[in-house]
Amino acid sequence: MPESVPFIDLKRHEPGFVESVSEKFSHMLKNTQFVGGQEVASLEEKLSNYVGVDHTVSCANGTDALQLSLRAVGIGAGDVVLVPNMTFWATFEAAVNVGATPVTVDSDISDGGISYHDLESALKTIRPKAAIIAHLYGWGSACLDDIRAICKREGVVLVEDGAQCFGTRFNSAPIYAGATISTTSFYPAKVLGAAGDAGAVFTNDANLAEKVRQLTNHGRTTHYGHGAIGWNSRMDALQAAYLNHSMEFIDARIESRRKSAAFYQQHVTALSPKIGLEIMQAPSGYDENGYCNVCFVRDPAQKQTIEANLRSNNIGFANIYPGVMSQQPGAKDHLLKHIGGDGAESICASVLNLPLFPYMTEAELMRVMDVLASTQEKV
Ligand SMILES: *Cc1c(COP(=O)(O)O)cnc(C)c1O
Repeated sequence: MPESVPFIDLKRHEPGFVESVSEKFSHMLKNTQFVGGQEVASLEEKLSNYVGVDHTVSCANGTDALQLSLRAVGIGAGDVVLVPNMTFWATFEAAVNVGATPVTVDSDISDGGISYHDLESALKTIRPKAAIIAHLYGWGSACLDDIRAICKREGVVLVEDGAQCFGTRFNSAPIYAGATISTTSFYPAKVLGAAGDAGAVFTNDANLAEKVRQLTNHGRTTHYGHGAIGWNSRMDALQAAYLNHSMEFIDARIESRRKSAAFYQQHVTALSPKIGLEIMQAPSGYDENGYCNVCFVRDPAQKQTIEANLRSNNIGFANIYPGVMSQQPGAKDHLLKHIGGDGAESICASVLNLPLFPYMTEAELMRVMDVLASTQEKV
């Protein structure tokens, strides 16, 4: 049995992976191949094929991908944008950074996505110009079709933050394929991770793609012709080369993640009545990417007991996320309003994430379960 199980271990590369990347890097360094070029172009093409969209625009990180998307769909100073109350802070930040005014919308405790009911009421009462949703944990909302449809009907652009759903399938197609515009992050801990920061925007709309591309590169129309105020959010060629190599293994990595996710589904469910730990499942229609495990412990004292036991046995765990957007100190000067109740707060208070990363061993998974099972003796 392993002595400890980390929450995440990024060092489990496939045999030969680091060597082949090093060789590539060394070649690129000698040729000073740093920005743009063949590696970036081939990555974008590969990504478009993989996620089933017509256009991929690579960029510097997932936060920029959101800002680029918001700018490309015409969001700017004074526009009201709906943001889920539970997501990573970057989703909220992106709205503020493009000059918009965020309104938070409560989350659905059954899947972690935006509450459809509250979204509907926000669309009708607030009349925002855009809405952002975030596909957290490796799947999307049970109501994704309805969310996309109502936004279309109401004439509100929907931007989908897909930083956590690379490889996720919805109704048998990659989740990004059905979005008007969606984003991802290649932060190293994400499902497709770079050797640093990188991100991308996906869309089937050629016009939007062109706007995003222009914004990533100083609004350029020619080398010294600038048709818009953009910024520099180009992906560097070394990141693209690393991601191109990683794409060769992405299916194996996701398959491994899915296996571990399924292991937890089976074993935590069996243990659940004994220790008060419930597991969240991807809604039907989804093939999750195994990005992370999501458990709930509703009783705060029991949560502390379980966490203390994991800690003392060197089992990594996390709380994704411990707090909602509307309560962050940084939100105070920007938030216009919150729509809905405190579903997001209740997720934040009870969520517990168990270790999940590619190539976890069976022994590690068993060890996590053994430690969890030993909790019951203490209550
Ligand atoms: C990681 C993440 C981001 C930000 O991506 P970066 O590449 O770190 O800028 C945005 N939204 C969500 C939901 C994320 O998980």
